[in-house]
Amino acid sequence: MILDVHMHAWRFPEDFDMPSFRTHTLPERQRDYPEERLKPGWAVPPEMYLKEIEGLDIKGLLVGMYFGKTFGVNVSNDWMAEVVKKYPDKFDFVCDLDVEDVSAAVKELERCVKELGAVGLKLGPAYQNFKANDEKYYPIYEKAQELDIAISFHSGHTNPTTARLKYAKVLDLDDIAIDFPKLRIVVCHMGSYSYEDTVALMGKHDNVFADISPLVTFAGLDRRALNPLVPVVDYPYFHFLYPLMWSMSYFRPRDTTSKLLFGSDWPDCSPRTYVEILKYENMKALLKEYNLPPIPRGTLDAILNRNWRQVYPQVKRGAKKG
Ligand SMILES: [Zn+2]
Repeated sequence: MILDVHMHAWRFPEDFDMPSFRTHTLPERQRDYPEERLKPGWAVPPEMYLKEIEGLDIKGLLVGMYFGKTFGVNVSNDWMAEVVKKYPDKFDFVCDLDVEDVSAAVKELERCVKELGAVGLKLGPAYQNFKANDEKYYPIYEKAQELDIAISFHSGHTNPTTARLKYAKVLDLDDIAIDFPKLRIVVCHMGSYSYEDTVALMGKHDNVFADISPLVTFAGLDRRALNPLVPVVDYPYFHFLYPLMWSMSYFRPRDTTSKLLFGSDWPDCSPRTYVEILKYENMKALLKEYNLPPIPRGTLDAILNRNWRQVYPQVKRGAKKG
């Protein structure tokens, strides 16, 4: 079974902080649009994803978002738990947290894991305006380690102008990996634009992993997201082939490719398209165009089907098809 470790779904307008969303996310000409006019473009129900993966052996890890006031989207943990309850073969979920009040955040994390069944935590320091390796937040990491769940950190490129990139640094996670050696850390999007740092961390630490969502969109190979994520020039080398090759070429002791996790970042990329691109023959042909050697069949297979098991052992296999 493939686990899509990074995908989203949300309700519109229930999961939106509308004033912040209108000010920081919508283009100026759309700011006064009524909600009904925005809804078709902004509602992402879980059923949309189910339709996309029809017939594929994929389970989606519904990743929470707490973007505070920078982006205006805060997805409810209780709602994500309901989605998992409704489709237990198709989804599991990773909760989100408002970290402003650390002790309240620790309690909410415990509730999400023990009562709602969350298998991980997602944090977006740049969106939530905090420095990930500030020891003030250590009680959250301590609790995650105790609960034996992974934390995914949004890292690298961040769209809203009010989100601070200094809080999206991959290397900030080095301190957390050192101080919490049993905490599993996932660098989202392989750190986008900071691929080398991400691979260096994976090579250095047993407990650091990375998802590859949605690199094929950054690279222009998936045009589903007709938004600013899609590059002007179609040249898949920099954002897709380069990070994979860098991971393949990294010196040992750790095999960094065995720590790469498949993820789509749906709706920013189609999991169906991405899985197709990652097929051995298709990758071999694409790499050849850039004079690069093939990636072994077993490595690609592990990225899709196996590597996730080290990070999310709680995730149960879903029904095979349908
Ligand atoms: Zn995402």
